[in-house]
Amino acid sequence: MELNDVDRRIWEEELSAFVPARVFDAHTHVYRWAFNLDPHKETGAYKSLLGEEYADATWELANRVDQALMPGREVHRLSFPFPFQHPCDFAASNAFIASETAKDPQSAALMLVHPGMTAEEIERDLDRHRYLGFKPYRFYSSTGDAVDCRLTDFMPEHQIAIAHRRKLIIMMHLAKRDAIADRDNQTDLVRLCEKYPNVRWILAHCARSYSSWAIEQAAATLRKLPNVWYDTSSVCESDAMDALYNGVGCDRVMYGSDDIPIGVLRGKYIAFGYAWAYLSEKNQSLNLSHCDARMTFTRYEQLRAMQRAARRLGMTPAQNQALFYDTAAALIDSTRKLAPVSQRPGRV
Ligand SMILES: [Zn+2]
Repeated sequence: MELNDVDRRIWEEELSAFVPARVFDAHTHVYRWAFNLDPHKETGAYKSLLGEEYADATWELANRVDQALMPGREVHRLSFPFPFQHPCDFAASNAFIASETAKDPQSAALMLVHPGMTAEEIERDLDRHRYLGFKPYRFYSSTGDAVDCRLTDFMPEHQIAIAHRRKLIIMMHLAKRDAIADRDNQTDLVRLCEKYPNVRWILAHCARSYSSWAIEQAAATLRKLPNVWYDTSSVCESDAMDALYNGVGCDRVMYGSDDIPIGVLRGKYIAFGYAWAYLSEKNQSLNLSHCDARMTFTRYEQLRAMQRAARRLGMTPAQNQALFYDTAAALIDSTRKLAPVSQRPGRV
């Protein structure tokens, strides 16, 4: 996590004046590597991503990362576990997120869910902890297909109904190759927003639009949905944010880091054609002898994109403050006030 002269230059010249003093990070992961129960995990794909430097993503580590990358900023978080592929220790993941997040009264936690969880199990956990909603993930799709699954394949209606009744948040990372541009995803979202109007949806990663085309295609539909918010986590293309601000407005958009560990890793999400991919120092063999080939943190690339999009839009300081803090703080605050008494602070 050491900053080098490239990182420091980007922070000082491009980002320090852009990131306000108070930040509410709407998309953070807090977890332990031990919650990944895969017996082959030490040789698996996650090992280099999560199993070494960031094996224990505690609240204190999240604080250290934020202080290194955004020095002097006051940071609060909407946090949830890391969605390890089955077998994942859901009980330990959820107990850990509750106890870690409780270290900051302004922060809030979401519960990691899979479609096999019954309403009774979920209600019991909601009563026991202070979760303000759910973090489903496409890996847990009941169809067994994590790429081409529909929203209710990994967030079934009996769980959405609980979120509706308790007025909770659902952090939604959409599946399918076209993400929010996919017709099924749009149809499902419109239907579910109408049927369960109390649910507060957050569409992660600019509605999983890592460049402009998906959100441009979906904007007219999304604009009509009043209970949908967006986080900017790990999106590194200013065109995507541009499309989001122009398509649905910036008043529902919230800063998110996708830390730990995505934001603190050196690399960038790049987009081409109708694809997007993570480019890092380790996964490419480009000839970069003509330039300074060092990569900076994904979070800095994301903030650069946000800064350029804000400049293009002519964002006011108040809008910028809303993007980084006010919108998320208001969403968390109102969800907490609306949630049943057992979920409010001090009533664990
Ligand atoms: Zn994430």
